[in-house]
Amino acid sequence: IAARLSSSGILQTKGLIGGNWTDAHDGKTFEVSNPATGEVIANIPCMGGKETNDAITSAYDAFNSWKKLTAADRSKRLRKWYDLIMAHKEELGQLITLEQGKPLKEAIGEVSYGAGFIEFAAEEAKRVYGDIIPSPLPDRRLFVLKQPVGVVGAITPWNFPLAMITRKVGPALACGCTVVIKPSELTPLTALAAAQLSLEAGIPPGVVNVVMGNASGIGEALLNSPKVRKITFTGSTAVGKKLMAGSAETVKKVSLELGGNAPCIVFDDADLEVALKGTLATKFRNSGQTCVCANRILVQEGIYSKFADSFLKAVQDMKVGEGFGEGVVQGPLINEAAVQKVETLIQDAVSKGAKVVLGGKRHSLGMTFYEPTVITDVKNEMRISTEEVFGPVAPLLKFKTEEEAIHMANDTNAGLAAYIFTTNVQRSWRVSEALEYGIVGVNEGLVSTEVAPFGGVKQSGLGREGSKYGMDEYLEVHLDLNFAT
Ligand code: ADP
Repeated sequence: IAARLSSSGILQTKGLIGGNWTDAHDGKTFEVSNPATGEVIANIPCMGGKETNDAITSAYDAFNSWKKLTAADRSKRLRKWYDLIMAHKEELGQLITLEQGKPLKEAIGEVSYGAGFIEFAAEEAKRVYGDIIPSPLPDRRLFVLKQPVGVVGAITPWNFPLAMITRKVGPALACGCTVVIKPSELTPLTALAAAQLSLEAGIPPGVVNVVMGNASGIGEALLNSPKVRKITFTGSTAVGKKLMAGSAETVKKVSLELGGNAPCIVFDDADLEVALKGTLATKFRNSGQTCVCANRILVQEGIYSKFADSFLKAVQDMKVGEGFGEGVVQGPLINEAAVQKVETLIQDAVSKGAKVVLGGKRHSLGMTFYEPTVITDVKNEMRISTEEVFGPVAPLLKFKTEEEAIHMANDTNAGLAAYIFTTNVQRSWRVSEALEYGIVGVNEGLVSTEVAPFGGVKQSGLGREGSKYGMDEYLEVHLDLNFAT
């Protein structure tokens, strides 16, 4: 597959700086491998501060002309980029499965989902409206313009190698910003492929730059440069806090999409089928490796046994394997560290009284495959309830009353996504509004689309991605106060 992707031009193995495919200045490289097999897919330049500074310079130069294009012109080029991504949907999906491990169908789904952010941004580019404010003085006029913030540093994780990039870069470019992307070192190939297509789409050299290698060196260069006016990050809460602190020195605008601890609440009055479908979707998407995956499944005592039995059966039927395999719905975890984290959390829960009713160990396929797992008798004070699991483990907790469920759900520093399953309309509004979360799925397990705002409250982050709100993250408000007589 890698050879085929290479001959079709989708597999790029160098960094992109100012429109040039570039090696590291010292020739260093690192390996990108397939998590399902351990096979090396490509050797990629291991870049650091020097290359990042070059990329910032390119992005800064390109900003001067990119921001001056008409919105319609930027929009057309973004639309072309969207079309090219969709035209290469299958190949990009294969590349995602190859370097990230998710099942091919899910990977191709990510391509459409990810491309959607560019399509939406292309449309929204034409609607960056300002304001005219009635003046307090008869001879003054007040005009508010929205202007692009400038060069953007975009740091992204490995769980959605394409979509986490497009949902930042689409709106950034639409607003007139230029970007330096630092994809995860685990999945840089999809980022490079997307960047290649941006050039083909007529997005000028220097508008999109990609560097990767030494994450902290690259991060420092982005933070230290006064030319970088915005940091947008998706990843762990710990790294997000560092980037926020590091942005203070040059007072950058910051958007953060950090870890979640999503509660999924199933009430006695839920439609069992709907609750099962939604819970399975939110728990096991990408083998549990998304920040909106259900981390705690809270089930009311009246429906608990029925729900637990049906849930168990459905999880038992999930086919685990290499993402290219027929009928596979659960791929490998991203790396050994991810498996060890899952193991540690399960050990802690079991030592405190939880019961493993399904799975609970590495899969016989070896590598980083882990059995889809269900554990019961989980309590709020176990580590598995307070930390992000990021794996195919479903912890079931029992509750009695609505108040108790709301309290349990909010008893965390995270606040990204939550889910509730109920057929009672009043309850759905009441509980949804009481949940301290940026996103609440009501009788629905999949909550992300390019047309709606995505983001968290509390320590899950700052700002929103997608929708018209996602555009504001890349805009500054500029006031023109005009003496008009
Ligand atoms: P995850 O656990 O999802 O890998 P991380 O926060 O470690 O989350 O990684 C998300 C992104 O942040 C990756 O691209 C990673 O390389 C990058 N990253 C990690 N540490 C730093 C750092 N000190 N400065 C800048 N980026 C970093």
